[in-house]
Amino acid sequence: MPHIIVIGAGQAGASLTAKLRNLGYEGDITLIGEETVLPYQRPPLSKGYLLGDITRERLFLRPEEFYQNQNITLRLGSPVTAIDPVAKTVSIGDETLTYDDLALTTGSAPHHLPASIGGELQGVHVVRTLADIDAMQPEFAAGKNVLIVGGGYIGLEAAAVAAKLGLNVTLVEMADRILQRVAAPETSDYFRALHTSHEVNILEGVGLDHLSGDGRVTLATLTNGDTLDVDFVITGVGIKPATALAESTGIMTDNGIKTDAQGRTSVADIWAAGDCASFPYRDTRIRLESVPNAIDQAEVVAENMLGAGKDYIATPWFWSDQYDVKLQIAGLNTGYDTVVTRAGEKPGAQSHWYYRGDTLLAVDAMNDARAYMIGKRLIEAGKSPAPEVIASPETDLKALLK
Ligand code: FAD
Repeated sequence: MPHIIVIGAGQAGASLTAKLRNLGYEGDITLIGEETVLPYQRPPLSKGYLLGDITRERLFLRPEEFYQNQNITLRLGSPVTAIDPVAKTVSIGDETLTYDDLALTTGSAPHHLPASIGGELQGVHVVRTLADIDAMQPEFAAGKNVLIVGGGYIGLEAAAVAAKLGLNVTLVEMADRILQRVAAPETSDYFRALHTSHEVNILEGVGLDHLSGDGRVTLATLTNGDTLDVDFVITGVGIKPATALAESTGIMTDNGIKTDAQGRTSVADIWAAGDCASFPYRDTRIRLESVPNAIDQAEVVAENMLGAGKDYIATPWFWSDQYDVKLQIAGLNTGYDTVVTRAGEKPGAQSHWYYRGDTLLAVDAMNDARAYMIGKRLIEAGKSPAPEVIASPETDLKALLK
């Protein structure tokens, strides 16, 4: 019986194994994960789950019986320590499993603050796993002082939850503005105003110098010399692709595990998908950190493992929830030179459309599902209405699709 092993029981790993069965693959499947819980969705971790609106069970992508019924062997709490690509084996400690095809869906890991600046004090948290959230949730009591380090989506979502729960929230962002790495100033302005209206103290152009406390963090010193009394700290300072296992196997990496358009790595019969994989996109190579990418890429890899020979054509999209604002993003704004703003129909609804020259690259839509959906379809169809057409309130967006 052929045996497909998938290392990493997260979004991509779960999607890949389910798709294999869905395509009629009858060989053995083993899905190996180092976390001890069933594969789950991460987005609610910094949103509804942290807020207490979503139960733990609702995070799981599928119930345990699904894996039993589909004859997918789940090995949880089992970090893979080595791969031998010649013998075609993977090791979980002393145990060795043999594969015919192997997929790496190892995801990514958050950057931690270094111990030298207090990163190992108690009360300093990262936001990646269910265990991380379970560890920080008891800290979310009204009136406490929380410092959030990093003004990207994770930090801002955590700030929104903390503010909603009545904590005193300060967020520091070392760059000139929040969301600088991922969005235009217009989008930063929108979210700065939103958070400020919820009494979050946003400090931009200011970093964390160091944390201090006797075993547990109590004080934060900022790069401008100011100090803050803190009860706990959340860091959202970016992630790195989990490539260590691939590298120790001799698999090529390039900002992630390097794959071809079909998801093959540089080593025979080893594939990669999800946050850990970098893949060809138009005339460049990208790595995406999003659920839609993890699912779509993993499903294409499943097809290709069974011989489909299909290229993965990414259609990037992403979302974030903060307070009562749903941000939906279509496309990739890399290389934009112009942004136009379009007011939505409902109060507070707005969209920002990114162009490079005459080409529409991406849309950030805030509480404006119509702008998001139409923008996404225009980008996927390679259509670029003129910026002034988008900005005009007279324009019927839907008509642009014709
Ligand atoms: P993961 O889901 O990280 O799964 C990888 C798994 O591999 C992990 O469980 C890891 O423990 C395991 N693993 C790693 N190494 C080994 C090993 N050697 N042996 C065994 N197992 C191993 N995306 C969106 O699109 N929208 C959002 O709103 C959004 N919000 C997010 C909020 C949070 C708090 C976080 C953390 C992420 C969010 N994301 C969001 C990103 C999204 O969750 C990820 O892009 C997605 O989970 C990637 O799936 P993946 O399977 O590649 O990686």
